[in-house]
Amino acid sequence: MKKDDIIKINQLLKTPKQIVIVPHKNPDGDAIGSTLGLYLYLLKHKQNVTVIAPNDYPDFLKWMPGESKILKYEFQKEVSDILISQAEVIFTLDFNALNRTGDMEEALTSSKALKIMIDHHQQPDNYATYMYSDVSMSSTCEMVYNFIEMLGDKNLIDQDIASCLYAGILTDTGSFRFPSTTSKTHQIAGNLIKKGANHSEIYNQIFDNNSYERMQLLGCALSNLKILPEYRTAYITLSQEELNQFNYKKGDTEGFVNYALSLNNIIFAAIFIEDSQNNIVKISLRSKGNFSVNEFSRTHFEGGGHTNAAGGKSNLNLKSTVENFISILSRYKNALNNE
Ligand code: 5GP
Ligand code: MN
Repeated sequence: MKKDDIIKINQLLKTPKQIVIVPHKNPDGDAIGSTLGLYLYLLKHKQNVTVIAPNDYPDFLKWMPGESKILKYEFQKEVSDILISQAEVIFTLDFNALNRTGDMEEALTSSKALKIMIDHHQQPDNYATYMYSDVSMSSTCEMVYNFIEMLGDKNLIDQDIASCLYAGILTDTGSFRFPSTTSKTHQIAGNLIKKGANHSEIYNQIFDNNSYERMQLLGCALSNLKILPEYRTAYITLSQEELNQFNYKKGDTEGFVNYALSLNNIIFAAIFIEDSQNNIVKISLRSKGNFSVNEFSRTHFEGGGHTNAAGGKSNLNLKSTVENFISILSRYKNALNNE
């Protein structure tokens, strides 16, 4: 972030403002961790601040300090619209295009608030007054840590803030294994532990909280796993019927796609999840090396994300979506085999 911008934001925070913080739709650990970390920090500056999430998120994120104060736009639209229209400052975290907030897009677009983006996804839109956008960052939580440090407030990071930021770094780095993890990421995680983040407990809350049904759903997903060796690709499907059979809850399929990517010789993985309620198939894409699933998703599945992790959707049914995916793959045969 530019020094000049930091000076202006510092000035801005000297007096109490009406502030709203927004993560993307279907928020993950990094989205909830970063918004709550920033929220708890701004409270220390005596700001009038509210986090508004577009919709609900998995239970394994609900232990985070401050979580009970989050408004959910899908359930609390009226009060959220008032807060957004009255906001003087809106922080948008862990996304870079307002359409990533689903039904909140309109309210955010028409708001006169000064907007501050903190995000690590590719190809940011141009809606923010101040942009802290860096695709080399492991997570938005790492960036919120840097942001607080740039504002000269590292001493304000307490155990609660540290726990939220640690949680987001942990989830977005795949427990510190993705290539975006740097020595600086580890240093920051270390500092957060020094501030009181309990790394072991946080891991347990997020990853060792499985229901029996989720494990059964994983079994189903793995038995549906298919390999396309000629494209070094593997994919998983889950139909609505299968999800229902195992009493699917938000977050249950988190991480399933990584099993497909963990196969030897596979550098591209996808999971296709039928969503009958919205009449779409939700797609998660993962890759290894330089094959950009961000580009792939932008081009073919109305989505985007990072080079090695992206999401998207299809309006075809599950079977046709998979057929379409396989027919698209033939155009990428060389790219996939030259990796
Ligand atoms: P996931 O597959 O876990 O839903 O998402 C992987 C990454 O891609 C995350 O960083 C997420 O924010 C991003 N992402 C997921 N869905 C979309 C989408 O529809 N559009 C864009 N631009 N990014 C997405
Ligand atoms: Mn993120």
